[in-house]
Amino acid sequence: MVLLGPPGAGKGTQARRLERSLSLPHIASGDMFRDIRRGHTPLAREIRSYMDRGEYVPDALTIELMLARVVAPDARDGFVLDGFPRTRGQARALDVALSDEGLRLDRAIYITAPNEMLLERLAGRVICLQCHEIYNLNSKPPMQDMMCDVCGRALKRRRDETPDIAAHRLQTFLDQTKPVVAYYEDQGNLAAIDGSRSMDDVEQEIDQAIGLEGVL
Ligand code: AMP
Repeated sequence: MVLLGPPGAGKGTQARRLERSLSLPHIASGDMFRDIRRGHTPLAREIRSYMDRGEYVPDALTIELMLARVVAPDARDGFVLDGFPRTRGQARALDVALSDEGLRLDRAIYITAPNEMLLERLAGRVICLQCHEIYNLNSKPPMQDMMCDVCGRALKRRRDETPDIAAHRLQTFLDQTKPVVAYYEDQGNLAAIDGSRSMDDVEQEIDQAIGLEGVL
């Protein structure tokens, strides 16, 4: 399945939960890019130049990286995609790659929330660059100040979550990813989820949308 939504909607948190409950790999394009950008390679420099401006990494590069991951052996029985596809070109490329493998998407889940709420959440977000766990200093703080509960590393704010860049990322979502929502809607594959509610309510609504309510 695919999780879609603006930055701060809760895709990452929900995808990590689904990874645990469904025992399927969580494949997050943002985490993959953050891992690569830490290197000292021309590719790292290129990716940094897009991410630090709140721009999308170009389709050719993103598609090559993500499709290689989606067809890896551990994703054979399914996967939870988080942050990919984000453009119509990416969505079409994913469909083609899956159908070449005799596979198809079960569901696209679109989590949304009002813009002010998204920006407020982004302002409080900190992440672990080691294990990719996500926290919010206001609503989901770590047990120890700025330390990851899971792996004990220091938590960091994302470089692209200053107010200006966060607002730009939101606009990029509206311009480029809203059409992907329509793409899955046209396929009859979309479940829209109100991400402004409590985490438990959002979880319940997603489980219902994927036919898992009462099973997990
Ligand atoms: P995220 O962690 O999902 O918010 O992604 C962080 C940044 O990584 C985005 O602002 C983009 O610069 C880049 N990125 C992640 N996924 C994609 C994608 N599917 N297409 C293009 N750029 C992406």
